[in-house]
Amino acid sequence: MNDPPDQERLAELAASLAAVRASIAAACAAAGRDPAEVTLIAVTKTFPVSDIMALAGLGVIDVGENKDQEAVPKVAVCDAAGLGLRWHFVGQLQVNKAASVARYAHMVHSVDRGRLVTALGRRASEAGRVLRCLVQVSLDPADAAGSGPAAGRGGAAPGQVPELAAQIAATEGLELAGVMAVAPLGQSARPAYARLKEIAETVRADYPLAQVISAGMSGDLREAIAEGATHVRIGTALLGGRRAFVR
Ligand SMILES: *Cc1c(COP(=O)(O)O)cnc(C)c1O
Repeated sequence: MNDPPDQERLAELAASLAAVRASIAAACAAAGRDPAEVTLIAVTKTFPVSDIMALAGLGVIDVGENKDQEAVPKVAVCDAAGLGLRWHFVGQLQVNKAASVARYAHMVHSVDRGRLVTALGRRASEAGRVLRCLVQVSLDPADAAGSGPAAGRGGAAPGQVPELAAQIAATEGLELAGVMAVAPLGQSARPAYARLKEIAETVRADYPLAQVISAGMSGDLREAIAEGATHVRIGTALLGGRRAFVR
């Protein structure tokens, strides 16, 4: 797990990183935005820690993982190497993993229910940390009108967002940083991200420090940046197609 990346892989990662940075710059230019407003998160799930170390050497600071049990050993190796990375937890999160995630996460992107807010707040306080939290919003049309539990791939229904935002803002150990969404499968991304932007604006009206819009993956970063994304979460375009994670 600690082997240095071979030169071929390093060159591959350098090239894909340059290409992703160029796509971000082009999307920002098209949207009249400053690329400095957009943070690239390298989503390294299923890839070995040697890839994370290589990306860190190429200047990547923000790293995303979606499973606690996979993230923990990667964090340990990178911490031991003194890399100073910021870890973003982007996957569906079980309450029983809150204590672990609260120890290493810089930002949790997937806060979508009250029980999770309570657990993360308690665990972050115990760890003496402040955890930045994003409300994950479901943009699935089935959830658009509802205020009950979301139907799709995680995320709160839009109607639940104000209450969750208020709960995070009021919880010791947590900081409300903004909103996150995944574009619904099989639909065009741009209108979904436009909806997310509206939701982000209503949250910002009450909590001016909650500026983050985490949106955009390899296939739709342009649309996300056009609709105000401040954080893009890029896996495939940086690291290649995912295979099974091997430790
Ligand atoms: C895997 C993942 C990504 C990255 O997706 P790619 O299409 O590989 O860029 C982004 N966000 C979340 C929540 C993910 O799970």
